[in-house]
Amino acid sequence: TPPERIRNFCIIAHIDHGKSTLADRMLQVTGVVDQRQMRDQYLDRMDIERERGITIKSQAVRMPWATAEHTHILNMIDTPGHVDFTYEVSRSLAACEGAVLLVDAAQGIEAQTLANLYLAMENDLTIIPVLNKIDLPSAQPEKYAEEIAGLIGCDPEDVMRVSGKTGVGVPELLDRIVELIPPPVGDPDAPARAMIFDSVYDTYRGVVTYVRVVDGALSPRERIAMMSTKATHELLEIGVISPEPVPSKGLGVGEVGYLITGVKDVRQSKVGDTVTGERRQASEALGGYKDPKPMVFSGLYPIDGSDYPDLREALDKLKLNDAALVYEPETSAALGFGFRVGFLGMLHLEIVRERLEREFGLDLISTLPNVEYEVTLDDGKVVEVTNPSEFPSGRIDSITEPVVRATILAPSEFIGAIMELCQTRRGTLRGMDYLSPERVEMRYTLPLAEIVFDFFDALKSRTRGYASLDYEPDGTQVADLVKVDILLQGDTVDAFSAIVHKDKAYAYGVQMAGKLKELIPRQQFEVPVQAAIGARVIARETIRAIRKDVLAKCYGGDISRKRKLLEKQKEGKKRMKMVGSVEVPQEAFIAALSQD
Ligand code: GDP
Ligand code: MG
Repeated sequence: TPPERIRNFCIIAHIDHGKSTLADRMLQVTGVVDQRQMRDQYLDRMDIERERGITIKSQAVRMPWATAEHTHILNMIDTPGHVDFTYEVSRSLAACEGAVLLVDAAQGIEAQTLANLYLAMENDLTIIPVLNKIDLPSAQPEKYAEEIAGLIGCDPEDVMRVSGKTGVGVPELLDRIVELIPPPVGDPDAPARAMIFDSVYDTYRGVVTYVRVVDGALSPRERIAMMSTKATHELLEIGVISPEPVPSKGLGVGEVGYLITGVKDVRQSKVGDTVTGERRQASEALGGYKDPKPMVFSGLYPIDGSDYPDLREALDKLKLNDAALVYEPETSAALGFGFRVGFLGMLHLEIVRERLEREFGLDLISTLPNVEYEVTLDDGKVVEVTNPSEFPSGRIDSITEPVVRATILAPSEFIGAIMELCQTRRGTLRGMDYLSPERVEMRYTLPLAEIVFDFFDALKSRTRGYASLDYEPDGTQVADLVKVDILLQGDTVDAFSAIVHKDKAYAYGVQMAGKLKELIPRQQFEVPVQAAIGARVIARETIRAIRKDVLAKCYGGDISRKRKLLEKQKEGKKRMKMVGSVEVPQEAFIAALSQD
């Protein structure tokens, strides 16, 4: 296809504004998927994606669209819709010339609408503003067209109105895409350069790499090189997705499709990397390549210690499909053998955990998630800490923690509540803008550790569900952090150590000591539960002793009953862990780590 007839676009939207539904409708209207094959959220392939209604991996699909003069090829590139995957979103956007900015006509602009719009503008994309769900009785298209027009500087009349559900306005939108989005531009005679915007592991075919060709062309059987690693591979297959993969004779300037080289690990085909020909190599890679960087770390342990080898194998398999997943073995006195795993964020953590449990049948326990701290000691040594157990005991000069730039959108009546929340999370207000008299955008710098776990829930509950949030990494800051240990009868329980802000150490200590007092059964002796910073105890609870043993109850009773009780007690012991001389049922660890 000549580049003049190609349009590459993506749909950017806040979650639930109807991106997947609109994509489904486009597949139908262009005839790529017929009524019989149609199922909801055609492009969201992973089970977890369907169940949660989110897109984790992006996809690209090629659709023919005939206008009065010509048939055009529209490549729709679906982008992941969550802050954990901002880098993948930015690469998908970089593969396009234009973006459909989709806004729910009953909701208006939300935080992810803005975050994605800013990313699209950074990539110089042509923006087509569209109000969706105009079939809803609660839709207020006039009001929100004004809001969008004010934001992107267009005329409210230019904001299109569609319904992904009924299909109203969808053909007109496809016409508008052809009309307004510029065709791709590239040098067909230059050495090939194609950008990888996604790569997915497939059990049968190995890694399937999605690319957008910028210059030159790629054809089957030729040898290609990855510019970041210099690795070379033979192109076993090349093709387009419409909506299933179809092999083709090659891809030229501006085209979007997939490659198969037989590699078995997505790390050999990295998102953001440039593919070139082995013999005729491009001298310069396309810009914007970054290695994925884990932001959140957690220990993952099998509940049944004998599952450890299975956990290792499962992680090795998941890694083939997930370039951002990193892990190394770790041991905990309390939890046994497990792994310290690095994730892009909390959603990524949840997805990995869910896949390990669901696809590999493992029962897991995860420790409190942690961000990465940099501790500088008095002697100038620097230690990177992703696990409280690595926290150095020497004299500390300073500690830095990662921070994010957060955008919060909410009705203006909640400004006070949001400020109060951000204050308790050590946030700094960076700026505030009114999108309309009743909607406000607030920009904050916040420590990552303060927002990854439960910030969004807290924000939602203080704004009756009306606030939306988006954030991106924004470097690090020095902070007054300490490590709090939890001790049972003087012995540290490693799984409960945490790095927290000095002002929150006491609250954490009191909370954990209180929980453990409830969860750990009474022993033959009194057990102090303490929270401490170094040698300084900051909170204390006591588990009182019991005297009774099980046999005392059936004094004089029949012997078989005694035996049964002893058996039962032994069984119970198997699931006990010893912390010093204190017996702790494994359930207590699980409960203490999984609450709140
Ligand atoms: P996404 O998160 O942006 O991909 O949103 P989805 O396409 O999954 O849609 C979110 C919800 O909005 C689903 O319950 C859809 O059925 C509903 N929805 C999407 N488009 C429309 C529309 O045009 N009209 C109405 N009434 N509902 C819609
Ligand atoms: Mg979706």
